[in-house]
Amino acid sequence: MTGTPETRASGLLADIADVGRDRMRGGYSRHVFDGAECELREWFAGEARRRGLDLEQDRNGNLWAWWGDPGPDAVVTGSHLDSVPGGGAFDGPLGVVSALSAVDILRARGVTPAKPLGVVVFGEEEGGRFGVPCLGSRLLTGSLPAEKALRLRDPDGTTFADAVRGAGLDPERIGADPELVGRIGRFVELHVEQGRGLIDLGRPVAVGSTVIAHGRWRLTFAGQGNHAGATPMDDRRDPMLPAAETVAAVRRIATSAPGTRATVGRVAANPGGTNVIASTVDLWLDARGPDVPSVVRDVEAAARAAAEAEGCTVELREESWGDEVVFDPALRDAVSAELGGVPALPTGAGHDAAVLSGHVPAAMLYVRNPTGVSHAPEEFAEDADVDAGAEALATVLAGLSA
Ligand SMILES: [Zn+2]
Repeated sequence: MTGTPETRASGLLADIADVGRDRMRGGYSRHVFDGAECELREWFAGEARRRGLDLEQDRNGNLWAWWGDPGPDAVVTGSHLDSVPGGGAFDGPLGVVSALSAVDILRARGVTPAKPLGVVVFGEEEGGRFGVPCLGSRLLTGSLPAEKALRLRDPDGTTFADAVRGAGLDPERIGADPELVGRIGRFVELHVEQGRGLIDLGRPVAVGSTVIAHGRWRLTFAGQGNHAGATPMDDRRDPMLPAAETVAAVRRIATSAPGTRATVGRVAANPGGTNVIASTVDLWLDARGPDVPSVVRDVEAAARAAAEAEGCTVELREESWGDEVVFDPALRDAVSAELGGVPALPTGAGHDAAVLSGHVPAAMLYVRNPTGVSHAPEEFAEDADVDAGAEALATVLAGLSA
């Protein structure tokens, strides 16, 4: 039995399809505590109210909607509403609309959970504004110190401290919230699959097995800014050159390290003029795999050699790190069994569930993505699979909260 049409997960997704469209990049740009993401928070609050759920914003800006009094041993589900720049419609929102729809499905099935049921929206999961992924769940669990978070800056120079103040939160109260974490008995996040696993298996839904270790680094190359026409070619210290050589080195080094995925997807030249030799160039490295530290050491050595050859300098700073995560095997098997046995898939994408898994048993459900593409406008899920995912989530929640 499914919910009424307007409570289907696919219908809820359609309701927010126009929020945060990015006309320049395509897809969606929804960044934490900024226009579109705030609009989605309002929308979520309205949907929670419509269902009679008790809404609260925690001290780190994550939203919680409770069915039953929040307390220990709660079963919690949810995801995020922020996106990468120019991202797809499903990464994040699919888990939120499926959670809301699952509440409707449980009610339509006549199920009243014996345990409190929470629907959560985590802030800044993508790190699209402040650079650190899973910022909301890392702060909640204490895996990122508040002092470090408050100093983060977005590309416009706004600090996280100012952003949280603007969102009506107290920067002094940002940080670990053991009382709130202590309420969570088990956490289940539903997410669009970011890969081709389910296409190849011909199945709509899978359960998560592992998340590979991943981190982000910022490399700053510094040289001498100068005039593009008046500076002879043999009299330049142009940081764009070692930056470009480093991009190529990342591909070379990652290709020779089995299981590694390394990407430079963001470069910023300062001051950034066509007729100006840059004075500095920042580039951001995203590296994931079984031996990331040695990959990063090799990239740093290559960057240093390229910088010295051009008379430039380079500085490398870690922006975030997450160890490999193996989801709780007992919970994974219980979730799979509730669904009559679904495949277990590893992923190269990070998630709030992976952060929480260091503190509470956590599991993930993936929904088939027929393009296999994510973090891009082509990310997709068929309505039938979206609704099947919400049904599966409802079944899992019913089992866990009985
Ligand atoms: Zn996501």
